[in-house]
Amino acid sequence: MRKLLILPFALALLTSSPVAQRAQVTALVGGTLIDGFGSTPIRNSVVIIEGERIKAVGQVGSLAVPAGAEVISTEGMSVLPGLWDMHVHTMITGHSDYTHWDATYANRLEKEIMPASARQLLMAGVTSARDLGAPLEASINVRNAINRGQIPGATLYVSGPFIQHEPYPGTDLFRWGVKGQDDARAKVNRLADAGVDVIKLIDQDQMTESEVAAVIDQAHKRGLPVVGHSHRPDEIRLGMKYGVDNFEHTGLATAPEYPADIIEMIKARTAKMALGPFFWTPTIEGLWNYEYMRDNPEMLDDPSWQLGLAADTIADIKSSIQHPDQMSYFQLTPSRKPTLKRKFQQLREAGVTMMIGTDSGIPMQFHSQTTWNELDIWVRELGVPPMEAIRAATYWPSLFMKKDKDVGTVTPGKIADIIAVRGDVLRYIDLLQKVDLVVKHGKRVK
Ligand SMILES: [Zn+2]
Repeated sequence: MRKLLILPFALALLTSSPVAQRAQVTALVGGTLIDGFGSTPIRNSVVIIEGERIKAVGQVGSLAVPAGAEVISTEGMSVLPGLWDMHVHTMITGHSDYTHWDATYANRLEKEIMPASARQLLMAGVTSARDLGAPLEASINVRNAINRGQIPGATLYVSGPFIQHEPYPGTDLFRWGVKGQDDARAKVNRLADAGVDVIKLIDQDQMTESEVAAVIDQAHKRGLPVVGHSHRPDEIRLGMKYGVDNFEHTGLATAPEYPADIIEMIKARTAKMALGPFFWTPTIEGLWNYEYMRDNPEMLDDPSWQLGLAADTIADIKSSIQHPDQMSYFQLTPSRKPTLKRKFQQLREAGVTMMIGTDSGIPMQFHSQTTWNELDIWVRELGVPPMEAIRAATYWPSLFMKKDKDVGTVTPGKIADIIAVRGDVLRYIDLLQKVDLVVKHGKRVK
């Protein structure tokens, strides 16, 4: 049946282009290449792209640009792998009132909201993003439409609905509660059968231990990594006990640091090198920048976050963020901020491999703005070397998602997801707020 369907399509393609078309060749020439592996950048770089893949990487003078190639000058620029954001929420776009949002936009998520978010991420230089928590069908459909080239957007890796003890009222579309281990396994199977890329576990400290164990075990049986919320110490303890692969956030609590037993558990895990790196996505910037943005909110007026959204949606979001000081979401943030640096340091000292992720979509945190801000805070405030921050947004995420054969570095044979920005990002990381060039799957999209 499948063959019968495909054959006429293939014939139509052949007849419309009788001569086999040569793949488009593009050359990015002149800029300093940070390839994602972390070693010395390559000056006067040449990146040859054929079709959707990188054909060759070298330097002006030793790697020739093929005749007929389209040459794009990257002189004066930093050239680097397309960024990843490992924690986005495409179903929300900065509105301050979730109850209102869920009630009003449920039937506009798939056609308007999620595609707009994915497109805004791409225009910000984020060529891959992990979308953690959204309705199942919409997640799969939007991801697939982007992969098929039907709509522009970052390549998405989706979890579909959160798995948790019980959905909050009115959130059943994107939060699935579990009752007992059999139900836990059945829910994971439904997500796996639908084709999700990852399982998102949240509020696991409210579940029974056997439910937590069942979710993680079943996910692993189906070849899916488990991403665990980790705001509360017990979420981390349980997640670590049963094998969560990647923790998120740095704790809602205002406690000044992680308890010693948790740090000991993490150290015991990172010491087991055979298990590979132990990943954490701290999502710092939204909290770190809140007070500054509350008092200096010009960024909220940047039109970049309106791309792809309907006029009434934009008006609704605008009116919801008129009073950044009054948002219930952020009232505890000023007392949490002083704890972030210490917790971040504790995790780093315990040997965790950090990844860039932002929680983009939460109130005032727009998809077009969060990712570079996370890199900026890491480098400027938390003392992370710029190269390490860039690798946390390129190489490590691709490895975690087992896509490192295809993306994450600028290497011959890999898919050409490449960005370039005027200036030296290793000296001024915040240049990433204005990415000049975005190539996705070999095609220039910005
Ligand atoms: Zn989140």
